[in-house]
Amino acid sequence: MTTRPLAIFGGTFDPIHIGHLTVAWEAAELLDAEVRLMPANVPPHRPAPLASPAERVAMLCAALAGQSRLVLDARELERDGPSYTIDTLRELRAEQGERPLVLLLGADAFAGLPTWNRWRELFDFAHIGVLSRPGVEVTLPDSLVAEIAARRVDDVAALRAAPCGRLVELAVTPLEISATRIRELLAAGRDPRYLLPAGLFDDPVLLAPYRR
Ligand code: ATP
Repeated sequence: MTTRPLAIFGGTFDPIHIGHLTVAWEAAELLDAEVRLMPANVPPHRPAPLASPAERVAMLCAALAGQSRLVLDARELERDGPSYTIDTLRELRAEQGERPLVLLLGADAFAGLPTWNRWRELFDFAHIGVLSRPGVEVTLPDSLVAEIAARRVDDVAALRAAPCGRLVELAVTPLEISATRIRELLAAGRDPRYLLPAGLFDDPVLLAPYRR
């Protein structure tokens, strides 16, 4: 059994930005994990991303070129209907055996966990790694505080000792960058060059969805 964890970092990635890449990269280092970036299918009742699934994948490929620590996993886009993380983790568990799985969530996404489908069961399939994110108001709901009380560990080594069920906070470099802000800047005709990864910032085709 390999104990090198497999970490999953899901998101809309509309577009992928330096905040995503930095925290995913640092999480990979802190956990000594392979990290998969997993673009989500956005359910019909949510605002649609400006970029199509194919456009978001093209941006991720451009952003991830030239390194192998962060890899793309587009399985949720291949599934019909909304992406439920619980289904993805179940599938990964079947593929990976007892290998530790870690679901990476920014602090804002983590606070919203109790709104997710079958959220308590997520711990039956994976650990959770919470990534620091500045500039977002985060109040954890009581149900979440109660659920994590006995799961919290301080040492990332504890994640290697079990396949799932623990929670760790990962102190990654705080970067107050959001895709919302980047979409606003592009829509206003500005050039958020250094908020975007190389391979993306001067490609007029990849950024076209935000300038339409
Ligand atoms: P939007 O502004 O469109 O909501 P976003 O920048 O929050 O987008 P998402 O694709 O929605 O990006 O986020 C995917 C995941 O990345 C979430 O878990 C989110 O918390 C995390 N994340 C995004 N930006 C950062 C950041 N700057 N620091 C830490 N985590 C981040």
